[in-house]
Amino acid sequence: MSNLSRLRCATDDQATEAMLWRATAHPAPPCSELVGAHEADVAIIGAGFTGLSAALHLAEAGKHVAVLDAHQPGWGASGRNGGQINPGFKVLPSQLLTSYGQTRGRYLIGLAQTACDDTLSLIDRLAIECEARRPGYVQGSIGARGLVARDAWVNDWRREGAEVEPLTRRAISDLLGTKRYCGGYLDHRGGSLQPLSYARGLAAAAQSEGAHLFGDTPVLEIKQAAGADWQLTTPKGYVTASNVVIATNAYGGAIWPGLKESVVPVRTFIAATDPLPGPLRDKVLPGGHAVSETRRVQVYYRMDAEGRFIIGGRGNRTNCKPNGSVDHLHQEACVLFPALNGIDWPYAWNGLVAMNLTHIPSLVRLDRGVYSALGYNGRGVAMATVMGRELASLVKTPEGQSASPLEIPAPIPFHRFRQAGVTYRLTIGAVLDRLDQARQ
Ligand SMILES: Cc1cc2nc3c(=O)[nH]c(=O)nc-3n(C[C@H](O)[C@H](O)[C@H](O)COP(=O)(O)OP(=O)(O)OC[C@H]3O[C@@H](n4cnc5c(N)ncnc54)[C@H](O)[C@@H]3O)c2cc1C
Repeated sequence: MSNLSRLRCATDDQATEAMLWRATAHPAPPCSELVGAHEADVAIIGAGFTGLSAALHLAEAGKHVAVLDAHQPGWGASGRNGGQINPGFKVLPSQLLTSYGQTRGRYLIGLAQTACDDTLSLIDRLAIECEARRPGYVQGSIGARGLVARDAWVNDWRREGAEVEPLTRRAISDLLGTKRYCGGYLDHRGGSLQPLSYARGLAAAAQSEGAHLFGDTPVLEIKQAAGADWQLTTPKGYVTASNVVIATNAYGGAIWPGLKESVVPVRTFIAATDPLPGPLRDKVLPGGHAVSETRRVQVYYRMDAEGRFIIGGRGNRTNCKPNGSVDHLHQEACVLFPALNGIDWPYAWNGLVAMNLTHIPSLVRLDRGVYSALGYNGRGVAMATVMGRELASLVKTPEGQSASPLEIPAPIPFHRFRQAGVTYRLTIGAVLDRLDQARQ
């Protein structure tokens, strides 16, 4: 293993070249700090996919929008994710209908069914240069449990009209170039993109529709102002607006009571190589698919447009810190693709994913004119984009007349002990995964 592979992760606050997306993204649009008083129809907190998509759709509808981010657009999960445009939720359509009934179940299935298409169409319509492509998303099955999951996904989604194919052991090995899996599926809805370029492209598009974007502007407090308005206080000014959208997801602090407690922020790590030499490209993901697996403690991986191999996954039991190492990901990559042995890994970074107990995102009304969407459970590239659009639609519709089923935030029990819970799940999950693998 080379010295470069011992690189420590770029931490949350470092704008470092060790984050691949920052090294290769299109330039950021200018977003200066808010100074003084500002009035808007809608104030949006957070400039990731959720907030930027909401801002774009609202500005296109003629609303006066102010977006406030503590850093710059795409600083959070939106600018540091794996860039996989993953279809669906972890929860299957039939389970959504059983758990939520026809109205909400069908609403969620509709979102999940079209989220990838809607995201790629939006990118196309706005001509955002972000390496968007659709080779399909593959999930690799490990053990009998993985094959059951494959069959359930294929059957359920085919019933909903999605283009999904089951893969045998041989078919998945030919498609991906790894012998790791005993089967899997190819979901043609999925794809990949350069996430920071996408976030910056959304930001520029929202600005060109008239939205005001303020960077380096943390919102410190939200309080009721005169009449029906809300006032958002920042270090050097404030914004007054009749509607507020809170789009802070895993990076949200205590600006609204109970919201932070409705998700568990879980740190996930990513490592990337330089562009692979020609002969390796034929062996490693020759079709350029975006891949994940059925393991409980899984990895996900893909190639970028220039042929860099990118792999992400959880930390391990003792490695969940922002400056943690990604050695475990290098090892996983070499098990998947032995041809990667000895390759350099110049990129390493991580970020927070917002998980919840239901595994589906929440669209919540917090108060009169105050909404939020959060908890994408690691599938937010497409889903945060469409939830931003849903938030915009909520704001545009008179209160109480929206067709979107709303929730109130449900705090996760024992939220204070969340880190211990994550560690426990990682430990048990890794043991069960090893048993599945051994029986495969
Ligand atoms: C390492 C990693 C890999 C991932 N891989 C994938 C993947 O391959 N595919 C996929 O679909 N999903 C993936 N995800 C999940 C996906 O990135 C997220 O679900 C999605 O980006 C969430 O977008 P968001 O806009 O809701 O939140 P974010 O992008 O996190 O934006 C929240 C913003 O809120 C701002 N903020 C917070 N508090 C305040 C405040 N008080 N005032 C002002 N601003 C504030 C932050 O600065 C931040 O910019 C991954 C996530 C991570 C971290």
